[in-house]
Parts: sequence; structure tokens; C-alpha cells
Amino acid sequence: MGVIEREDAHTSGLYQKRALAIVRGEGARLWDDAGNEYLDCVGGQGSANLGHGNPAVADALAAQARMLGSCTELFYSDRRAELYDTLAAILPPALDRVFLCSSGTEAVEGALKFAKVATRRSGIVATMRGFHGKTMGALAATWGPEYREMFGPFVPGTTHIPFNKVEALDAAITGETAAFIVELVQGEGGVRPATLEFVRAAADRCREQGALLIFDEVQTGFGRTGTMFALEQYGVVPDILCLAKSMAGGMPMGAIAFSRALGDLPKRSHSSTFGGNPLACAAAVAAIGELQRLGCAANAAERGRQLLNGLRGIAAPTVREVRGLGLICGIELKVNAGPTLKALQDRGILALGAGPTVVRYLPPLVISAPQIDRVIATTREALAV
Ligand SMILES: *Cc1c(COP(=O)(O)O)cnc(C)c1O
Repeated sequence: MGVIEREDAHTSGLYQKRALAIVRGEGARLWDDAGNEYLDCVGGQGSANLGHGNPAVADALAAQARMLGSCTELFYSDRRAELYDTLAAILPPALDRVFLCSSGTEAVEGALKFAKVATRRSGIVATMRGFHGKTMGALAATWGPEYREMFGPFVPGTTHIPFNKVEALDAAITGETAAFIVELVQGEGGVRPATLEFVRAAADRCREQGALLIFDEVQTGFGRTGTMFALEQYGVVPDILCLAKSMAGGMPMGAIAFSRALGDLPKRSHSSTFGGNPLACAAAVAAIGELQRLGCAANAAERGRQLLNGLRGIAAPTVREVRGLGLICGIELKVNAGPTLKALQDRGILALGAGPTVVRYLPPLVISAPQIDRVIATTREALAV
């Protein structure tokens, strides 16, 4: 039996899978079990910013696995200390505390809890089309009815306002609001960059009302949008920042960066067995070092412009709009995106959806100019099918 049949015999059935078994990767390229090569614009759904098979991450992992694989936060750890130093050098100085965890949804769960404790309030304001994860707390902030329908009632006091609608902020964010949580580019919700105006007005309103501002940079962090964090392009520092996906070069890891000004969080009010695990810390230190050494953020800015301009130059009648920031790009179609994704795959390019009508590109940030040219040319072909 092949890989697909063996997986199908036991898979949870929760994932909509493509009939492809991916077995190897290098940079922005992937290979299936039959040896076919693909150009990767899925990028581990945002977890492969550094590209596949990075030797520095592989070496750091192997060395740490031999040295020490487990060390919970009952103890101090040299690798964890090193990661804190590494993060302190790239985060805004005001975000001087970090809680380590293992995924994006876990980072959001913790952020919401911290906001409630710090403000002694319970209201959470989120945005329509926002995506923050699928565990029960994060799911309350996630908007998509397709994710929520079966699972309510949710944490009471959670509301959603229209994204990028400045006029909606004042009524929603009040003296009962613990936090406003927002993505700087909505990823799953269709590749929609937040406007400067919206983000700055939200920050002002939060400050005015004593509510905390949470940025969910799980997908936009670590170079994706052309800067190490998208917040640099908005000139706004949140009270709490959620990170995960590409943080540790493909290893499962998340983080909540926050300000000491939030006050002390009660001991034992939150924890995670795998948080700050030395293997993940070693991978993150190596991955962040490599993102910097390879100039991934600058490459994301340049290649992102190239991709956006190229996609905007495609005059297909089914295209409604092309959007993006750095190397998170999307084409919103007037029709379902499925056939275009399939046509791309048949031509050796793996891309993903973002809602039913958006074709999303999240390539590793090491992708080259000729590879981007190929993505553009192949998209032109796929849209003509
Ligand atoms: C992917 C994502 C999450 C959830 O991350 P998981 O690791 O899948 O739990 C949360 N927020 C945003 C913005 C994401 O893109």
C-alpha cells in the first residue's frame, strides 16, 4: 500500500487533503514520493518561512537532541535563555516578557487569559473574517461560521466588528473590554491587509479605554510581510503579541510577547509542558539567526512586490482583486478558487486557499526572482484554463 492508502486507513478525517505525499524539501522546492518536483507556495501554511531543509536548524536540533531534549519551566534552561536574548533583539523593547508554548491557537488562548487577568475585565473584541485558532477560547475570537457553528456557546462577552472599519471601534471597545485582538494581514480570512488608519485608531481607542491591544502575528511574523514583524510597518506596539508558525524553522512552537507593564500574572494561572522545550528553543534560535543571515524579510519585501505586480498584470476575467503585503499574497476570484489551485498543482505549483474564492501564496521567503516569475507565468496559464 502507498502512503495515501495507509494514511487514509487511520486519518482523523478532519482535513481536506490533496492526493499528494510530500517526502522531501529544499529551499522553496518540494518533492512527492514519485519524485515529482513542486514549487512551494503553501510554505507549511506559514510555518516554512525559512524554506525547507535548512542545515543550521537541522544541526541545532540534532546537537540539542543529543544534549537534552526535555526541560520544563520547573527549571532554567540555557537554550531558553538564549532564545529570550534572540527574541529581545528583534521585538519592540516594550514587549519584554515572553511566554513560550507550542502553537498559534495556544498563543491566542494565553493572550486572552493574560488580558483578562491584567485588566480584570472579560470583554473581547475581534474582527469579522479574523482567524485566531480553533481551540475553544481562540475559537470565540475566530469569526468563520464554518469553524464555529457546531461549538457554541462561546466565552460570553466576545464580539466581532467589521475589519478596517474605523467607525466601528468606539462603540465596541469600552470600559468593559479586556482586549481587542486583530491580525495585521488577515490570512485565513482572505489575505486582507489592515489599514494604517484602522490599526492606529484601534490603538488609540484601546489606550483611551484601558483595554489591551493584541496583535495576532502568528501568520505575519518572522519576515513574512517584508519586516521581521508586520507591526514595524504600522508603527504601533501592542500590549500583547501572539507568535507561532515560522518561529522555530518548522518545529512546533508559539510565543506570547507582552509588556511588564501588564503587571504580575498569578503563579500557575497558565502553563504548558512543552512550552520552552529545549529542542524547540534550539530550533528557534537557529531559525531566527538564519532568517536574519539570509535577509529573508528584505527578500520577502522585494519578491512580494514582484509577485503582487506580476499577479496584478494578469487580465483574467475571473479576477476580482489582488492583495498582499510582502510574501503573503492573494488573488480574490469571482468564482471558487478550487479549479485554479488544481490547475496550478498540475503545473507544479502548490498554493492554498483562503476562504472559498481566494488563491493564497505563502512561499518560503528564500524564493528567488526566477521562481516568482514562474509562479506568475503559471498563474496566468491556470487562470486561462
Ligand atoms: C494559523 C493561525 C493561528 C492558529 O495557529 P495553530 O498553530 O494552527 O493553532 C492563529 N492565528 C493566526 C493569524 C493564524 O494564521
